[in-house]
Amino acid sequence: MDKFYHSVRLDASLCRGCINCIKRCPTQAIRVRNGKAQINSKFCIDCGECIRICPHHAKTATYDSIDVLKQYAYTVALPAPSLYSQFNNLEDTNIVLNALKLMGFDDVVEVSAAAEIVSEATRQYLAEHKEQMPVISTACPSVVRLIRVRFPNLIPHLLPLNPPVEVAACMAAEKAMQETGLPREKIGVVFISPCPSKVTYSKAPLGTEKSQVDRVLAIKDVYPRLLSCMKTVGRGDVEEIGVSGKIGISWGSSGGEASGLFSDSYLAADGIENVIRVLEDLEDQKFTNLQFVELNACNGGCVGGVLTVENPYVAEVKLKRLRKYMPVARSHMEAEHEAYVPWTTGVQFEPVFRLGDTMMESFSRLEQVERLCRRLPGLDCGSCGAPTCKALAEDIVRGEASEKDCIYWMRENLHKLSREVTQLAQDMAESGKEKSGKLPVLMDYVRQISSEITYLDSRVQEPGSEEEQEETT
Ligand code: SF4
Ligand code: SF4
Repeated sequence: MDKFYHSVRLDASLCRGCINCIKRCPTQAIRVRNGKAQINSKFCIDCGECIRICPHHAKTATYDSIDVLKQYAYTVALPAPSLYSQFNNLEDTNIVLNALKLMGFDDVVEVSAAAEIVSEATRQYLAEHKEQMPVISTACPSVVRLIRVRFPNLIPHLLPLNPPVEVAACMAAEKAMQETGLPREKIGVVFISPCPSKVTYSKAPLGTEKSQVDRVLAIKDVYPRLLSCMKTVGRGDVEEIGVSGKIGISWGSSGGEASGLFSDSYLAADGIENVIRVLEDLEDQKFTNLQFVELNACNGGCVGGVLTVENPYVAEVKLKRLRKYMPVARSHMEAEHEAYVPWTTGVQFEPVFRLGDTMMESFSRLEQVERLCRRLPGLDCGSCGAPTCKALAEDIVRGEASEKDCIYWMRENLHKLSREVTQLAQDMAESGKEKSGKLPVLMDYVRQISSEITYLDSRVQEPGSEEEQEETT
């Protein structure tokens, strides 16, 4: 599988080239060229920010349809802890788990139960690896992908444990094979996900060669059907399926994973901009005394994923209310789980932002970028389709764009051309040598250039004018 596989895609037919998304992408992965957005797959970390921001719904996440259940002889649902936070007045997780069975799944294995096992393994890992502190959580695939491309110095700090969804998938597959006697390929292990990042994880996992998650459904797709099944379940006997407590359920929102470590020496940040700020500070060694750093790309943690239906802040309150009377933990690490938890492969630095193939080439291109930046207006207006002037300069150096994409550059050059042609026409007229009848053609040319300049003048903002306006108001 392509290590740069992505579940976030562009529907070009809906894109209007409005450039809203280029400014929000945390890795500057988007450019607008020929009026349409394009995603650079090497830079994208599947955070879903562009899906949130696009006013024309041109950015979408790919995931499976519920019909995939028909492709397997036996299916197991893996509900994310954030799924419970989508429903009003939910007091018992068993209602959701029974409803999943009523919907068509043969069995259910809670990701929150696996989360309690991962919490236990993390506590043990932290006790045994003090030299690696601060240890950074690896539960959010977008954060691991971001570190992989932008913060190589922090890779040794990554917690080398599989995320709860992977542990739950291993448990589910093993249990199903034992109980049914079916071969693995006839069993469908289906995650119900809050975000596209975990869809990508199932196809291009981190820390393991192959994920045991076979299919991924979106919470927002499952929600309406599940809600009606929950109403039916609520009227009858409810089977006791749930085996997770406070710790596992807490993983659904920011700070939940860290709270399962029984330590105050942690930092939990959510929202991709805050995550980047923390990673920069970690690189600058500002938090050397911290034991653990929990980072979630979405606001509020997984409850804020773009594939959920509830407002993340409301969802967080619902999760808090649900876990209030739960026992601390109900699932524990058993001998059979030990193989499921540790990473079996490492995470390698992917130098996608490097400008050249060698150090020398990179330095020389960096100088070119700096020279170009001095020529560009420095307004970061986005009119060229790149998020900043520096990003445009890098694109030019990589051979993916041209200075002509900058409308300021175009305007300057048209002004110059207009002055030169006007001078030429004047010289010809004054010398009286013009006999060929070309002067009117030349004047027409000057008029065309002038109208182009007028158009460009109406589109561009003068460098510094914004600040000047602010000063005068
Ligand atoms: S926000 Fe991006 S993807 Fe959406 S219409 Fe504008 S340019 Fe296209
Ligand atoms: S998913 Fe995130 S990283 Fe990828 S293009 Fe969209 S905003 Fe950028």
